[in-house]
Amino acid sequence: MSKIYFLEIKNKSDEILEDAGKRISEVFSDFFKQEDKVGIKVHFGEEGSTTHLSPIFVKSVYHILKDKVKKTSLVECSVLYKGKRSFASSHKKLAEEHGFTFAPIDFLDGEKGDKDIEIEINKKHFKKVKIGKGIENFNALLAISHFTGHGGTGYGAAVKNIGMGLGSKAGKLEMHKAFNLEVDENLCIGCGSCAEECPSGAISLDTGKAKIDRLKCIGCGKCISECPYDAIKIPWGDESAKELQEKIAEYACGVLKGRKTYFVNVLLDITENCDCFRGKQKPIIPDIGILASDDIVAIDKASLDLVDVDERLTERTGIDGMIQVNYASKLGLGEKEYEIVRL
Ligand code: SF4
Ligand code: SF4
Repeated sequence: MSKIYFLEIKNKSDEILEDAGKRISEVFSDFFKQEDKVGIKVHFGEEGSTTHLSPIFVKSVYHILKDKVKKTSLVECSVLYKGKRSFASSHKKLAEEHGFTFAPIDFLDGEKGDKDIEIEINKKHFKKVKIGKGIENFNALLAISHFTGHGGTGYGAAVKNIGMGLGSKAGKLEMHKAFNLEVDENLCIGCGSCAEECPSGAISLDTGKAKIDRLKCIGCGKCISECPYDAIKIPWGDESAKELQEKIAEYACGVLKGRKTYFVNVLLDITENCDCFRGKQKPIIPDIGILASDDIVAIDKASLDLVDVDERLTERTGIDGMIQVNYASKLGLGEKEYEIVRL
């Protein structure tokens, strides 16, 4: 049975969040060793978000860890869709605007999201997964995940933060089974930027508009963010919620392979949609607190159970988030049985 450390927080303030960082850090003080290189996986929040992970809490944790281990930095990867988080440079600026100014940030998949390594997992959906290449620089991870609802997966927390979050653009395309990219001819002006960037020569401009040869396309996702006119569309939703959640869990499996990882789930400002949602959202339930564990399955299960005390999240999102918990457990990533240890 896995241990879940639980710090209840009802009325948060900057002081309480800073103190929470110190108290949670005590829980994993023996887990990370002096020789470890620890990537702290966070999500900086989409443009306009005000309910994303608290930089005050993360800063508090970062400063304690920094003094203990050989190397640590915040780590992230680019997103697939067009926006500030499509490129490392603009993503970094957004992170700073959201208060993440206190630590170095490593974008593991490079400036354009196309640097990755393949990690062999040999599972049902994937034999290999494509993870941001910079992961090779870290033997350890601390995943600090903001628990939210999610329109495609029911909820997002530890499994999704590292599974989807650390996939390169090609990995994210693969998880979303969204290879059949489409060009909106009403938006395309035939500038050719996408064709110049395409590594497989899959884009032609013979008709004055971009055309993607699906047989040549290798699904790297670069053209999506290269287009200044947002003309290349991702055909979201090809896959079922079950398939998507299973794929995310398999990606998490690749990230965890051979890497020591600790998990912190933040159950504050819980919104119906995840932090990739552009603009402001309102929390849908009262704050609960912060959980910590070395078990990715148990911490997500405990988070769902605690949220359900207040409100059936599944009923709001219409998707059963337990699919990812059950599948991650089946993959051997952790166990669903846990005991809560109150801090
Ligand atoms: S996703 Fe396909 S078409 Fe787009 S840049 Fe990559 S290989 Fe080329
Ligand atoms: S970058 Fe965009 S606008 Fe330019 S050719 Fe490609 S799809 Fe068309």
